[in-house]
Amino acid sequence: MKIGIVGSGFVGSTACYAMVLQGVGSEFVLVDLNRNLAEAHAQDILHATPFSHPARVRAGSYEDLVGAEIVIITAGVAQKPNETRLQLLERNAQVFEEVVPQVTRFAKDAILLVATNPVDIMTQVATKLSGLPAERVIGTGTILDTARFRALLGEYLGVSPQSVHAYVLGEHGDSEVLVWTEARVGGVSVFDLAKQIGKPIDDGVRQRIDESVRFAAYKIIEGKGATYFGIGAGITRIVKAILNDEKAVLTVSALNEEVEGVTEVALSLPRILGRGGIEATLSVKLSDEERWALKESAEILKQSLARIGY
Ligand code: ADP
Repeated sequence: MKIGIVGSGFVGSTACYAMVLQGVGSEFVLVDLNRNLAEAHAQDILHATPFSHPARVRAGSYEDLVGAEIVIITAGVAQKPNETRLQLLERNAQVFEEVVPQVTRFAKDAILLVATNPVDIMTQVATKLSGLPAERVIGTGTILDTARFRALLGEYLGVSPQSVHAYVLGEHGDSEVLVWTEARVGGVSVFDLAKQIGKPIDDGVRQRIDESVRFAAYKIIEGKGATYFGIGAGITRIVKAILNDEKAVLTVSALNEEVEGVTEVALSLPRILGRGGIEATLSVKLSDEERWALKESAEILKQSLARIGY
């Protein structure tokens, strides 16, 4: 199964490496403005295949994306000193104006998976530019935030994160919403389980977990300048769910007709992923406070979009 990756920087190359190690996909084409970088990563990753899974990995141009089932877009520009978030957004929208029409021209039947940040806005831009239905333009969204929330709850409660069902919705960023009221282990609310084991989740615990999830990326960037291992694994998880038609429920971003009264906005909700891309979006029961926070998250995203003319 052929997978295209446009933007083979930290995130694109790491995602490719993670997919090869896990045996997800059999052919990879890396496209980048910097062809030398794409060639170098393709060679390096190819050399890992004898130790992992057979795959063809090469650098290419947009023409080489013909027949790709999924094209992952991680192309983007880094923030310049003194540049505002808005200016960065405008420049990334310009990158997408160049990239997306080329992708859809050659990879006609591909599902697009957007990872460039701010991912919700870039997902919405990609949806508009591609003209594809919303279920075929997916953003990595809060997949990683959800994973982190489950991991931290699992750690606190002494339970495998696989057995923790909890979700982070909304923007992948500062306004994201951790849905505490529906967080469960074996059908039991995490608050009840915490009391049962004599470790109640008080405001302090809640705040510590919330901040660790919400601000994780800042801490990583402070230490190493970029984040790519976690998101590389997250991209692999999404691609696997689609290619294997898993019907797995993951929190990913996509254009929604309406969220808490805000129309036409891309953000993360729990969605069923399969061969058709997003096959359904679940509607989560939220407390009033969570609903208000989700509405605010949607409004923040909508404002940024309006500022860049989308
Ligand atoms: P990240 O950490 O998000 O992966 P990088 O800067 O490492 O960030 O990677 C982004 C990649 O996107 C770079 O390799 C860059 O060359 C590529 N890129 C930027 N603009 C374009 C474009 N218009 N077309 C294709 N690739 C692009």
